[in-house]
Amino acid sequence: MSKKEFALYIEDLTVSFDGFKAVDNLNLYIDKDELHVVIGPNGAGKTTVLDLICGKTKSTAGSIKFQDTELTELSEHEIVHAGVGRKFQTPSIYENLSVYDNLEVSYPKGRSVFGSLTFKRTEEVDARVREVANEIFLGDFLEMEAALLSHGQKQWLEIGMLLIQDPQLLMLDEPVAGMSVKEREQTAELLKRICKGRSMLVIEHDMDFVAKIAHKVTVLHQGKILAAGDMQAVQNNPKVIEVYLGH
Ligand code: ADP
Ligand code: MG
Repeated sequence: MSKKEFALYIEDLTVSFDGFKAVDNLNLYIDKDELHVVIGPNGAGKTTVLDLICGKTKSTAGSIKFQDTELTELSEHEIVHAGVGRKFQTPSIYENLSVYDNLEVSYPKGRSVFGSLTFKRTEEVDARVREVANEIFLGDFLEMEAALLSHGQKQWLEIGMLLIQDPQLLMLDEPVAGMSVKEREQTAELLKRICKGRSMLVIEHDMDFVAKIAHKVTVLHQGKILAAGDMQAVQNNPKVIEVYLGH
């Protein structure tokens, strides 16, 4: 029997900070079209997993293969180029630029199908900026200075700045932290929509939100997998209840 083809293959991944293993022999597999959520107590190593995948932190051992490319050997810039987009916990947008300009500066350079025709390129970028703005519920806010957006809208804008690059693996660290109930509902709808055609890895604490979006859930604890599977199996797992959900 042939091995199933996943988009992302993480095997035996370990990182040690002065002898402390923040991620310890992790195995994690994500399919195309899969929205995978990682949960777990503070300090479990969730953010470190994203740091390792995007090359911000170098692994001590193990392998991260994305679409057959070994990411552990690449620089952060090369990993972005390999199709990996990552959103940090705090939004990093240009506060003094408009929504439109934030999206426009994030449009990938030198990928126009019209080659050097600047005028065509401008049209193409403009159409894409408007399309992405609509997707992230900011179609009516194009001219607004980003500083004036609500916290939730800033989070959406940052997702849009990644989306405009059409990453094949999109990673989000606590995307609904600080959002209103309504914004959380909209974000769940957004993530389910944008995960089609790519793989997604989301870290989140809000279990109602996780239940709405997750295809699969991995529970991390002290750098190791405590449980993995669908939401129901994970929620009913006594070990998970003991170390995480019970609190
Ligand atoms: P989580 O996101 O699950 O709350 P983190 O991945 O941020 O947890 O952190 C896991 C552990 O690794 C914590 O104990 C943290 O202090 C430690 N850690 C993370 N990054 C570094 C680093 N660059 N150097 C030293 N320790 C780190
Ligand atoms: Mg974290």
